[in-house]
Amino acid sequence: MEKTLILIKPDAVSKGHCGETIRRFEAAGFKIRGCKMARLSEELLREHYAHLLELPFFPEIESFMQSTPVIALALEGENAIVRIREMVGPTDSTKAPEGTIRGDLGENVMKNIVHASDSTEAATIELKRFFNSDQLFDY
Ligand code: UDP
Ligand code: MG
Repeated sequence: MEKTLILIKPDAVSKGHCGETIRRFEAAGFKIRGCKMARLSEELLREHYAHLLELPFFPEIESFMQSTPVIALALEGENAIVRIREMVGPTDSTKAPEGTIRGDLGENVMKNIVHASDSTEAATIELKRFFNSDQLFDY
């Protein structure tokens, strides 16, 4: 069993796609172990998207990610990290296949509905970034 971090991004929050996004993860058998809504600070975003800091359009990504609060989820399941990345689809929503979350609900390369951890190392770090241990639940 693996846990992974999902962020339901501002495009999903503002267009009303949160429920459909969570529904798909639950239908695939993933369990919600943590859930919170939060506004992302500049400091947190610079850490979370450190690999994008040098991009000329980083400020655009930052302002998009701060345009509404986001919903953070800790999801658990077998091979959760890889399977959820497959369900989410590639970064660019316009290139994401039909049936993937980004392909069906996303708008473009930036407005792509969800963040999902891309490795076990990233998942460990990102879950700690968004959840204190008393905000994660085993049941
Ligand atoms: N992003 C963007 N343009 C790019 C690359 C990334 O707007 O050319 C945004 C997009 O919202 C993406 C996020 O920055 O989801 C993180 O980028 P990453 O390459 O890690 O893609 P992901 O892992 O989300 O597929
Ligand atoms: Mg990424």
